[in-house]
Amino acid sequence: MLSTLRNIVQEVNSARDLQEALDIIVSRVQAAMNTEVCSVYLLDPETNRYILMATEGLYKKAVGKVSLAHSEGLIGLVGSREEPINLEDAPAHPRYRYFAETGEERFRSFLGVPIIHHRRVLGVLVVQQRESSRCFDEGEEAFLVTVSAQLAGVIAHSEATGAISGLSLTGQEARDVSFKGVAGAPGVAIGEGVVIYPPADLDAVPEKQTEDIQQELALFGEAVTAVREDIDRVSERLASQLRPEELALFEVYLRMLDDNALPGEVVSRIEGGLWAQGALKQVVNQYVRHFELMGDLYLRERAVDIRDLGRRLLAHLQAGDHQDVVYPERTVLVSEELTPAMLGEVPRGSLVGLVSVRGSGNSHVAILARAMGVPTVMGMVDIPVNQLDGKELIVDGFEGQLFASPSAELRAFYQEIYDEEAALFRGLEKLRDLPCETTDGHRVSLLVNTGLMTDVVRSLSHGAEGIGLYRTEVPFMIKERFPSEQEQREYYREQLEAFAPNPVTMRTLDIGGDKSLSYFPISEENPFLGWRGIRVTLDHPEIFLVQVRAMLKASEGLNNLQIMLPMISNISEVEESLHLIYRVYHEVREEGYDIHMPKVGVMVEIPAAVYQVRELADRVDFLSVGSNDLTQYLLAVDRNNPRVAQLYHSYHPAVLQALVRIAHDAHSVGKPVSICGELAGDPGGAVLLMAMGYDALSMNAASLPKVKSVIRSISQEWAAQLLEDVLLLDSPHVIKSCVELALRGAGFGRYLRPGKAASDTLSQNS
Ligand code: PEP
Ligand code: MG
Repeated sequence: MLSTLRNIVQEVNSARDLQEALDIIVSRVQAAMNTEVCSVYLLDPETNRYILMATEGLYKKAVGKVSLAHSEGLIGLVGSREEPINLEDAPAHPRYRYFAETGEERFRSFLGVPIIHHRRVLGVLVVQQRESSRCFDEGEEAFLVTVSAQLAGVIAHSEATGAISGLSLTGQEARDVSFKGVAGAPGVAIGEGVVIYPPADLDAVPEKQTEDIQQELALFGEAVTAVREDIDRVSERLASQLRPEELALFEVYLRMLDDNALPGEVVSRIEGGLWAQGALKQVVNQYVRHFELMGDLYLRERAVDIRDLGRRLLAHLQAGDHQDVVYPERTVLVSEELTPAMLGEVPRGSLVGLVSVRGSGNSHVAILARAMGVPTVMGMVDIPVNQLDGKELIVDGFEGQLFASPSAELRAFYQEIYDEEAALFRGLEKLRDLPCETTDGHRVSLLVNTGLMTDVVRSLSHGAEGIGLYRTEVPFMIKERFPSEQEQREYYREQLEAFAPNPVTMRTLDIGGDKSLSYFPISEENPFLGWRGIRVTLDHPEIFLVQVRAMLKASEGLNNLQIMLPMISNISEVEESLHLIYRVYHEVREEGYDIHMPKVGVMVEIPAAVYQVRELADRVDFLSVGSNDLTQYLLAVDRNNPRVAQLYHSYHPAVLQALVRIAHDAHSVGKPVSICGELAGDPGGAVLLMAMGYDALSMNAASLPKVKSVIRSISQEWAAQLLEDVLLLDSPHVIKSCVELALRGAGFGRYLRPGKAASDTLSQNS
């Protein structure tokens, strides 16, 4: 059964479109289960009806015509109960409803299973049989459930692909369908999609039309010649080491490259208007599917060769494709996995929005995007990335939604929100030089989180009082090797100088988890629980010592440096780090630098540290809470995984209780405590943290004016009451609503989400 299932899934996965996928499903399942009927009904979100989309066994002419209301018949029952229904005598069931046009009155046994993707019912998969004596057994039921679970993702993906061309799952017209992801960085962007795809990856190749068929043909011809030569060369080199039957493999490769084989088909697709890479992708997929279905093991293995050949041709095509990416004036960058380096490629001022399939709002690239003020959606898992190139896109970074090819009304709607945001920021500029103080005189420091030099410029113009977190890994991530001491010294000096005499808190290298350096790969099963932050740098003192030395030298004459240690889970890690910092301090002074010993602090971002705040605080000068990781580790929710993004909640009562405890325990031993996680930049979160007694809030520059505006308009007493109220609540959602209600009541509704919620008026996908 397993191999049958694998074959079906493989075949469906490489179908050209949804209809082909559904036809494959019904015919293969019918054969595998040896039943008379197999049909798929899909739920049309527009009409809320189940439509017969494919069948093997019922009348084909009923496809697309027969439909049932959402709760009608046995199909509706399967959908609404969200579980299989297995009946020996379906017509006897009170919910049975028959359609003469399908010819189904002849069938008695019925087994229907729902097709569910991310909690949403997409349709129902049904098998039927004429004899009443057949009751589908448990094994068959389990098989159908497995097929349906595996296919749900493929169907959801097809749905998204259709939606880009304005079609619903059932082929009806769909306007302004939104794709749902996770909010990454707030704001709205209207621009043109530019898809960045990894090299030599056929699956990632976008399907584009070409305007220059001759050029594409020439490129492809050159690629075929180059691959033929490569294969000849390799086969000659190995001739003395391989047996003749092994060498024959190269012959097979060369035969596949004959003009009338694979290349011939690619050429005809290019002549039809496709660009060479897209044509190659389609033909290779078709061949692979064909070979994978072969019963003979040897022939099945040839699918691997075709894929390999496809990759080789693609690599040559991409090498010959010297057209640099053209970034339009309003670029929305789209990628399977965005990296900080990709952001850096786009010319300054042209990047208006970001879309990433992987990651979530707490991924580091999203944090970077927030710092840069670029509206971003993450975790767009079902979006067909390679269809978005050149399309007009709207990124709604407040709600985590994306729209492709929007209507004029939708564009106007979002333009209004965009203008409102811009006006709001202009209005906040006047707060720049005013203190962050409540109406009853309670003062709290507002600091910024930085990584790039652009953040520093923005932070100064937003009135930050210092840097609460400089993520030193950012300059490491955009290089191709570890930066030298001198290079680091220059980066650090820029940050220190920009804010002197105000404090600049530099965190020692925090790599691992989702922050990787291309030149220092770390591959682990559980990266967030593995070799991360201080664990890496204490194991590599040569990296740590050079970094601290560069920081200390950079601080000469400014003396506003503070050093902060990430991912501390043990007292011994603090002691070892302090020992190394003192050592470097003395050495640098001995070299003649006139420097002061910087304040050293620890990040509280692991539950163990929450319970040792006093012991940690006794050993250092300050503490700073990393609420992003603290939330992840307290709730056991990977901050980077869009599947569980809805469980990641910094307003969770357990997180709030931990935050209260940290502030209390740090103050009880006389040490200051700040917070540098994203919660500090959330206006509601900032109010609660201030009420908890946090001395400083460090956030991305874009959030700072809003937070200052809220704090300057409320009293500490009001904030304390709100905190007292929410600490009695037990649900993160209720707490969030309660805080938002209070802020709206105080006149800050516009900071929560400008404009009217888009979801009020628009249809939604996934
Ligand atoms: C945090 O974990 O809250 C934090 C500020 O650090 P980072 O997001 O860089 O892990
Ligand atoms: Mg952290």
